[in-house]
Amino acid sequence: MNKPVSDALNRNLALAGKYLARFADGVVPHNIGGEKVSGAATFEDNSPVDNSRLAVVAAGGRAEIDRAARAAAEAFKAWRDVTGERRQEILHDIADRIEARAEEIAIVESVDTGQPIRYMSKAAIRGAENFRFFADRAPGARDGLSLPTDTHINYTLRQPIGPVGVITPWNTPFMLSTWKIAPALAAGCTVVHKPAEWSPLSAVLLTEIMQEAIVAAGLPAGVVNLVQGLGEDAGKSLTEHPDIKAIGFVGESSTGSLIMAQGAPTLKRVHFELGGKNPVIVFGDADLDRALDAALFMIYSLNGERCTSSSRALIQRSIYDDFVARAAERVKKIVVGHPLDPKTEIGPLIHPRHVEKVLSYAEAARKDGAKVAVGGTQWPGAGANYVAPTLFTDATTKMRIAQEEIFGPVLTAIPFEDEADALRIANDVRYGLTAYIWTKDVGRAHRVAEAVDAGMVWVNSENVRHLPTPFGGVKASGIGRDGGDYSFDFYMETKNIAIAYDRHKIPTIGT
Ligand code: NAD
Repeated sequence: MNKPVSDALNRNLALAGKYLARFADGVVPHNIGGEKVSGAATFEDNSPVDNSRLAVVAAGGRAEIDRAARAAAEAFKAWRDVTGERRQEILHDIADRIEARAEEIAIVESVDTGQPIRYMSKAAIRGAENFRFFADRAPGARDGLSLPTDTHINYTLRQPIGPVGVITPWNTPFMLSTWKIAPALAAGCTVVHKPAEWSPLSAVLLTEIMQEAIVAAGLPAGVVNLVQGLGEDAGKSLTEHPDIKAIGFVGESSTGSLIMAQGAPTLKRVHFELGGKNPVIVFGDADLDRALDAALFMIYSLNGERCTSSSRALIQRSIYDDFVARAAERVKKIVVGHPLDPKTEIGPLIHPRHVEKVLSYAEAARKDGAKVAVGGTQWPGAGANYVAPTLFTDATTKMRIAQEEIFGPVLTAIPFEDEADALRIANDVRYGLTAYIWTKDVGRAHRVAEAVDAGMVWVNSENVRHLPTPFGGVKASGIGRDGGDYSFDFYMETKNIAIAYDRHKIPTIGT
């Protein structure tokens, strides 16, 4: 017999008490080469559930980043020389250790981010998968090409670029951090990680777990280092440090611009995964049930705080009224609640400042002449960070709700007339991360997929990741790709070596 849901919530609350207790006392320190370091500066990390304090966290600046970068540079000498096969074993060991602490990671992540436990229960598993995937690629990471001519054998090999900085955002931080750090380690790079200040706790667990496996293998803990702090202090210092050769960044487009400028004096290599305003384009011939399921899932799961969310529903006029009416009925039924309740589909948003931003779009929608069909308000009877799932309808492409990344459980529905109109609207934004196309017409699917401004396109599907495929955006949504071998292109330098045959005639001078 199934247990009542309230029992499950109570059980998870008890687990939260157990797993978060370690963060409640004193200051959560940085982890630099395995040493717990904290200075005078701190910041508060609060629970999205009620904005109560979860932890006081050490806020790093130039000094802590310098120490961490030097630890990573020192450890690089040992880590880059570890064979690919050995790195493979160590990364699998990290994955084992993540899986062993999956419950703890899920609970900490859910409370710290407000993300529903139904999704966060998979956070550790997805993180472990990232490590296993790149573990198995580590032995081949150096692989290159053979490019012979009549006179020379040219061959390429790849070498790790050096210590790298990884800067992550507050939405699903555990999964995103593993997605960046696992390939860096597989490539032979060492890492300084700066997590987001609104949800820093799961990074503490991840660093601890990675260091345990690394030290158990007889290697220095400084292969991975964690410095918490504010973007303008710790983050900025990391991007400016001369020992840090590259920055893997996930966050807002405007922060990407800052990082590019900050990294310019040291010629930093950058990889950016930025914002999105992704269209789900539903043509009149689509399988409407499946399209509706996918469109709603891609915007209302993960609290809508998701870069790949389908935040603009572009619906062909012939099916628009029906689609929107059905969507509205479904949106009204979404379960909003405590993130640790397995029943909850939408939890509290990350921070009061973010809530204010998300809610401000209801006013913008009305002012611009769109309709607030569902929501647009706080969720009644819950804490300050709970926002009602929201559906804006009858929008046009120039409205703010159709142009700006809202990053909450908010869908903007826009009607279109035909294929050309759909493409015009789809591409009429500064972003270009993902696009979702729904049609039974294969020719049209190809045409639209090719012409839409997006780094990733799914046809008749929600976002389903296959780890070898490239992940990244165009326009203001990013620079570069990761996934599979693309990640190694970023974290490694390609060297060409040319060896001459005897028959090569060397030109003479001065004879
Ligand atoms: P953000 O840009 O505000 O912060 C991201 C990180 O950058 C944080 O760790 C922050 O401290 C740091 N930072 C801020 N200023 C900095 C500076 N001057 N120098 C160096 N670091 C600095 O983003 P956010 O609000 O935490 O995250 C939400 C954004 O992330 C959304 O735009 C979302 O679309 C994007 N995102 C993109 C992807 C993707 O794969 N494309 C994935 C997840 C999130």
